[in-house]
Amino acid sequence: MHVETVGDGTPELAVVACLHGNELCGKTAVERVLAENHNFRRPVRFVVANEEAIEKNVRSIDEDLNRAFPGDSDGKTHESRLAAELLPQVRDCSVLDLHSTRSHPEPFALVAQVNEQTKRLARATGAPRVVDVSYIAGGLIDYVDGVAVECGLRGSERADRNAERVLRNFLGEMGAVDTLSDAGDPELYRIFAVVEGGDYEFVGENFVRVEAGETFARKNGEERRAERAFYPVLMSTDGYEDILGFQAERVGKL
Ligand SMILES: [Zn+2]
Repeated sequence: MHVETVGDGTPELAVVACLHGNELCGKTAVERVLAENHNFRRPVRFVVANEEAIEKNVRSIDEDLNRAFPGDSDGKTHESRLAAELLPQVRDCSVLDLHSTRSHPEPFALVAQVNEQTKRLARATGAPRVVDVSYIAGGLIDYVDGVAVECGLRGSERADRNAERVLRNFLGEMGAVDTLSDAGDPELYRIFAVVEGGDYEFVGENFVRVEAGETFARKNGEERRAERAFYPVLMSTDGYEDILGFQAERVGKL
C-alpha cells in the first residue's frame, strides 16, 4: 500500500485508488494531479491500495479487497490484512474511492446510503448519475463517509481521463485545491435486485430502461426477459463470473 499525505494538518479528505489491482485509472489520475505540485488548502491523504495485485495485473491476490473490510491484521488472506491496514488511514476522512468497470463508459457514483453528507460527496464528483447501492452489502464505503466512482471502461484512456476529471472536481468542490469545478445535479438510481447467472450475453444498455417483458440477456438461445421494468446497472457480458449485474429503479434528482 502506498500512502501519500499532502497539505498541513490531519487529513479530512482521502482518495483511494486500486482497491482492485487491475483498475488503474484512479492511480493514473492521482499521479497526474500530484505531479502538478498543487498548493493544497486542505490536507488530503492519497492511497494506492493493492500494490501486489497491481504488479500482477489482477483484481486481487486472495479475495476481493473491497469485500474484506474491516479486515484483520492477523487474517489469512493478503486482502484481509491489507483492509485492516488501510481502514485506519481513511476512517476519519471523507473518501473518494476510484474504480473502473466492464459495464459503462461514463462515470457514475455509488453511495452506500443516501444522506446529506453522501449527497454532497457524490455531487462533488461531478458524475451525472448516482447509484444507491445499499442493497449490496460490503465495500469500503460502508465503513467510511464516502463515495465510490466507476470512472469508465477498465483499461481505457477514457477511464483515465474521466478519473482525472472526477478527482479534480472532487478536490475543487471540497476546497482542497483552487481549481474550476462544478457540482453536478445528478440523477439518483437505487439498486433493488441482483441478476444471478454466468455466461449470459447482456443485450441491453446500462442506465437505459428495460420494459417489462423485454429481453435483456441471452444464453445458448435462451432469452431472459424482464419481469418488471428496470434500469440495468453494472450489467455486462463479462464483468462478473456468477452474476450478470444489478437491476435499479430511477428515483429522480439526487
Ligand atoms: Zn473496482
